[in-house]
Amino acid sequence: MTEQQHVYPVSESFAANAWADNEKYLAMYQQSVDAPDAFWAEQAKRLDWIKAPTKIKNTSYASDNVDIRWYEDGTLNASANCLDRHLATRGDQPSIIWEGDDPNLSKTITYRELHARTCQLANALKSLGVKKGDVVTLYMPMIPEAAMAMLACARIGAIHSVVFGGFSPDALAQRVIDSQSKLVITSDESVRGGKQVPLKDNVDAALTRDGTDVAESVLVVKRTGGDIDWHEGRDVWFDELVDQQSSDCPAEEMNAEDPLFILYTSGSTGAPKGLKHTTGGYLTFASLTHQYVFDYQEGEVYWCSADVGWVTGHSYIVYGPLANGATTLMFEGVPSYPTNGRLGEVIDKHNVSILYTSPTAIRALMAHGDKVMDSSKRTSLRLLGSVGEPINPEAWEWFHRVIGNGKCPIVDTWWQTETGGIMITPLPGATDLKPGSATRPFFGVQPALVDNEGNILEGATEGNLVILDAWPGQARTIWNNHERFVQTYFSTYEGMYFTGDGCRRDEDGYYWITGRVDDVLNVSGHRMGTAEIESSLVAHSAVAEAAVVGFPHDIKGQGIYIYVTLTDGSEPSDALKKELTQWVRKDIGPIASPDIIQWAPGLPKTRSGKIMRRILRKIAANECDGLGDTSTLADPTVVDDLIENRANR
Ligand code: ATP
Ligand code: MG
Repeated sequence: MTEQQHVYPVSESFAANAWADNEKYLAMYQQSVDAPDAFWAEQAKRLDWIKAPTKIKNTSYASDNVDIRWYEDGTLNASANCLDRHLATRGDQPSIIWEGDDPNLSKTITYRELHARTCQLANALKSLGVKKGDVVTLYMPMIPEAAMAMLACARIGAIHSVVFGGFSPDALAQRVIDSQSKLVITSDESVRGGKQVPLKDNVDAALTRDGTDVAESVLVVKRTGGDIDWHEGRDVWFDELVDQQSSDCPAEEMNAEDPLFILYTSGSTGAPKGLKHTTGGYLTFASLTHQYVFDYQEGEVYWCSADVGWVTGHSYIVYGPLANGATTLMFEGVPSYPTNGRLGEVIDKHNVSILYTSPTAIRALMAHGDKVMDSSKRTSLRLLGSVGEPINPEAWEWFHRVIGNGKCPIVDTWWQTETGGIMITPLPGATDLKPGSATRPFFGVQPALVDNEGNILEGATEGNLVILDAWPGQARTIWNNHERFVQTYFSTYEGMYFTGDGCRRDEDGYYWITGRVDDVLNVSGHRMGTAEIESSLVAHSAVAEAAVVGFPHDIKGQGIYIYVTLTDGSEPSDALKKELTQWVRKDIGPIASPDIIQWAPGLPKTRSGKIMRRILRKIAANECDGLGDTSTLADPTVVDDLIENRANR
């Protein structure tokens, strides 16, 4: 399978015009690891510093002293880097193109307009008593005010904590308390897929929970005009307050290591962790990766379809693109509304050159067949990107052939909330592509594979993915819990950052993420990642999506339990179960033969769209009480169905 796969070589014309061809990639990569101080001192010049840094890298991974600092004597302001410095050269260029949930709603905001409104908002925050170092929680729809709020916080040195607008009041309360937020910015309602979500009601509910009284004010954007309760003395209308403010707000001088934001992980593997990201290193890394990975060229429209509530939205909707003076498209809706052709229609409408999306979105479209893209041409596309989960080769091919009309390279970018920016990825002008592989490390990133004792493995092999040395975009700690930070990432293998992911490296030195280490199967002594078996199943025409977990098995130690979601028009049957079993045996080998297949109308996913295998593992083991933290599940009813129809009891 994977071995005989098709390789997509870099096209000469792409390489000729790209920021980096292979030679340049190799030279820059080599310098970045041989002489990190010199390399990162040079890269920092892409930002406007108030005081340029002279100390570049000062990092320790020793488990008794985890301490990560970059550019520690430099000062700058992230908002000034994303706004002010572009005014002279591209003030009238679009900064954000906003596409509403309703296809008839869109607007374009120039850099000058974004700057002015952000400054007004920053003054409004000050008038509410927000000071440098205070935390502000954002619980907002995908509207330009969300980006303005992030940049306004950055402007005055406040720390934003964006909580995805699909989270429950309890999840929101937990994050307000953990971060001790003084202010919550929200809207009356959000609109997704034609439905209203009562954001303000959720904030009201959250702020009745014990411990949330630190939040003194709630700033409310009027998005729909829907009915809401009003708490006099606490609630403030966004436009009313912001309209009165001056659009002059000097940007606060921040140290490179001052916090820029806190962000909680998506919670696929357990209770979310509030990662702290700082200013100088993060912004340098977000900006550099955005330019090289997406090969961003002046004037292009770039679209990352993530939500600002995730790190992808932070680094690749807001900070990376805006630091680079790019035009970033912000989409309020979902790819399935009003029809499944929406994604392509948005691309055509705004002439999008670069699309960055997730495997879960691609698989959802693929389940409807090729015709789902018939309502658009997508001739403006030049590059595609994927993030969030391993992309199954079948989904990769479909993304390439159908969405990209067979002419766009795909960058499969592996990274994490903790890493701040993209870590393992092709550069489109430099890297020959293999569907399903995140390929090679980005500048300054030193991945390694280790066995369970932490011995570094060489050559083509499989193991636990670690990173050997620090890079500027890395999270510095878990908010208020440095011990957990050290415990989670630096104590498994001494002196290394442990990613929690399993990975294979092939003969060409390409990296293939095989899934979470916690999800690895051990069948009759053979260790297997989940990604390979799932990809094999997704390659069958009847399978839209599959999730594989182990369950206790008397003879094999672990048996293979598979949840399968069928494509449109495919019917579940025993014959199909047999066929799928044969399919996997033939594709991967008898060792991967499924023991149990359960039809799953839906799979439990995090709100960011990732499959939560730990819940599936419990159901497969027939341990349906104590499913652990399910607060980050997108749709808890999916779990009830799976429990009711479980096949191992
Ligand atoms: P938590 O840490 O709370 O369990 P999470 O790990 O899902 O949540 P994120 O930081 O959003 O939170 O996700 C990072 C993880 O997503 C990676 O560790 C990896 O497992 C997966 N991932 C992201 N991009 C890719 C990719 N291109 N290929 C394979 N896996 C990916
Ligand atoms: Mg994680």
